[in-house]
Amino acid sequence: MSWLAGLALFTATVLLMEAFAYVLHRFVMHSKLGWAWHESHHRERDGWFEKNDLYAVVFAVPSILLIWGGMNGGWGDWATWSGAGVAFYGIIYFGFHDVIVHGRLPHRIVPRSHYFKRIVQAHKLHHAVESRDGAVSYGFLYAPPVERLKQALKGSAGARVRAAKGASTDRSSEPA
Ligand SMILES: [Zn+2]
Ligand SMILES: [Zn+2]
Repeated sequence: MSWLAGLALFTATVLLMEAFAYVLHRFVMHSKLGWAWHESHHRERDGWFEKNDLYAVVFAVPSILLIWGGMNGGWGDWATWSGAGVAFYGIIYFGFHDVIVHGRLPHRIVPRSHYFKRIVQAHKLHHAVESRDGAVSYGFLYAPPVERLKQALKGSAGARVRAAKGASTDRSSEPA
C-alpha cells in the first residue's frame, strides 16, 4: 500500500471513528445497558477514574490488535494504517474531551477558534443533562450550532438539567 493510500485510509478511519463514537454514545452509552458504565461520566467524579473509562479500554483493544497484526501478524499495511487511525482518534478524543473539556490533566489551553469554542460548548451542553434521556450533542469532533442545541435542550422532555453550573453555558465562552 502506498503512503498516499495509507494516509487516506488513516484519515478515513479517524472520520469513521467520530461517526462510530456518535452512534455508540447516543444509542449504546445512553441506552439502559450502556448507562451502567456511562452514568459515572454524568456524575461528579471522585478520584482519578470513573467506570466510563472502561469504554476507552475496550476500544484500545481493536486498535492494538490491528497495529500488531499489521506489523507482526502479516495482515498487511491496511491493518497498521487503520489501527493507527483508531489510536489517533483515541488521542484526539482524550485531549479534547478528557483534558480540555473535563480538565482531567492540568492545562492552559483556551479555546479561541470558532470551531474549538463550539465543540467545547456543545459538550458542556451534553453534560447539562444528568439523566440518561434528553441529552443533546453526542458527537465529539463535530457539533451542531450551539444555539440550536440550547433550543433542543429547552424543548427536551425527560432531561434532568443540572441546576447550577452545567446549565449556565454562557460562561464557557469566556477565557478561563
Ligand atoms: Zn453522555
Ligand atoms: Zn464528557
